[in-house]
Amino acid sequence: MRTSKYLLSTLKENPTEAAVESHRLMLRAGLIRQVASGIYTWLPLGLRVLQRVEAIIREEMNRKGAIEISMPVVQPAELWQESGRYAKYGPELCRLKDRKHNDFVLGPTHEEVVTALARREVKSSRQLPLNLYQIQTKFRDEIRPRFGVMRGREFIMKDAYSFHMDHASLEQTYDDMYDAYSRIFTRLGLDFRAVEADTGAIGGNHSHEFQVLADAGEDTIAFSDGSDYAANIEMAEALAPAQPRPAPSATLGKAATPGCHTVDEAAAALGLPASQVLKSLLVRGAPDAEGRHELVMLCLCGNQTLNEVKAGKAEGLSNPLEFASDEEIAELVHAHPGSLGPVGFQGRIIVDRTAERMADFACGANEDGYHLTGVNWDRDVPSYEVCDLRNVEEGDPSPDGQGTLHLRRGIEVGQVFMLGTKYSEAMGATVKDESGADIPMEMGCYGIGVTRVIAAAIEQHHDDKGIVWPAGMAPFEVAIIAIKPGKSEAVRECAERLHDGLCAQGVEVLYDDRDERPGVMFADMELIGIPHVITIGDRGLSAGEVEYKSRKSGERVALKAETALSDLLKILGR
Ligand code: ATP
Ligand code: MG
Repeated sequence: MRTSKYLLSTLKENPTEAAVESHRLMLRAGLIRQVASGIYTWLPLGLRVLQRVEAIIREEMNRKGAIEISMPVVQPAELWQESGRYAKYGPELCRLKDRKHNDFVLGPTHEEVVTALARREVKSSRQLPLNLYQIQTKFRDEIRPRFGVMRGREFIMKDAYSFHMDHASLEQTYDDMYDAYSRIFTRLGLDFRAVEADTGAIGGNHSHEFQVLADAGEDTIAFSDGSDYAANIEMAEALAPAQPRPAPSATLGKAATPGCHTVDEAAAALGLPASQVLKSLLVRGAPDAEGRHELVMLCLCGNQTLNEVKAGKAEGLSNPLEFASDEEIAELVHAHPGSLGPVGFQGRIIVDRTAERMADFACGANEDGYHLTGVNWDRDVPSYEVCDLRNVEEGDPSPDGQGTLHLRRGIEVGQVFMLGTKYSEAMGATVKDESGADIPMEMGCYGIGVTRVIAAAIEQHHDDKGIVWPAGMAPFEVAIIAIKPGKSEAVRECAERLHDGLCAQGVEVLYDDRDERPGVMFADMELIGIPHVITIGDRGLSAGEVEYKSRKSGERVALKAETALSDLLKILGR
């Protein structure tokens, strides 16, 4: 490919709209352009990267016996009503009508469509297990699209769905997919961890996420230094402290804390550390048959934070967890949210395991402008439940009892789920067992954010000059820079010969024949991150040499012009 005939759309200036390095570089290198918030066009260079990633994913999926299909983006609402998700999926699900006023959705994921397919096509248990996948556009009307294609609204996902007679078969395919994902992300040159994960809106009972370690990541992962325990912080269990709770030594008192709305403000006013002030929150319980809910008080140590995912799973709470509104709180306790506390609270109280070990602590008095001091569980709050509600912290003991937890930021590039029979049961996707009875198929589903993977890779692989593609992803393997080809027949001839020779060997080459200033061409090739760069100029040629430079190491080597092709092929490992 010649740059003179290509759409190379590099930008010199840093785009101001980009908040993370990968987004900046994807715009500057001309990989993507925004069309609307969270919606992008992929330019030729970006598309090449996308296609390379897709090729690796396809190879590894096919290797595990998965079969490629293609399902529609536009899906009838009826299927979503059958699964029960039409009502449950929030505003991320884009709903639309056709000209006949039939309801449709833009697929954020494809469990419904694929389950309807399997229901019709799988006639006998002999066809199982079956693993169907596609690489296809998804739409999720994300509330905060950001970081370019990292969190887009329209994005490309590889999604696979497996069908089984029994749980053992599902486990086998789950392990195969886990293995395939590990191979895919390794081949893509990513530093990643597989972590235990929550199942979110997809559902099911067992799941792992594949997280690329990067500071720009939106997820926090916890891992042990003493074992292979690793989990998304949403899932990581905080153990109860080893020390027992000290006996009460203070009497219950009441202190004026005018204008204090937060734990830190109350702690400062009372002269206590935040760890001695209780944080009390009111959340909604699970709705009853009439849709009414009680308000439940959650209590945490003032210096720790609520884990909404774990709390949402607590018995009888709304899930996803919903906080009480200020009006609901005012009606129940006649105080503002910053003045809540468990003493005298007439309702269900759930105390975090660590908070349950506090003694002589302070908490809101359920009266604006006052806190209680010297508070003790049992003595002052006779009735409460204890549950794991808080986020784990750096230095906590690992929940498997081995080692200490550390926290890192991660970008979720893939997730595998054991769905069980959630969809097959709801939608009647059954096969006959040996006794002739219809049983719902066991299902698994497996997603990779294909477009997000590229942003994640750039987060891990860049320097101050631009992208440094891992070998498996680069849009071109070799760049040839011809210096002043318009002025020198020898330069032109040597560059053409090398270009044609490499192409004949199946090497993807970008030949920069723009006749630009050399500095501009170097900068562009470094920005777009081509791994191997050959520079051909009159000065080198007069000594019979061309220059090779590795993008990654920056190392330069003079190659003999005559043998440049074979020398380069050797460097490329061909
Ligand atoms: P997230 O928690 O980041 O919103 P998710 O858990 O909802 O993602 P899944 O349903 O597991 O996403 O989808 C499979 C994969 O699709 C994810 O692992 C991620 O790599 C990718 N993905 C999900 N949402 C987006 C998005 N808005 N933009 C780009 N990629 C996405
Ligand atoms: Mg996920």
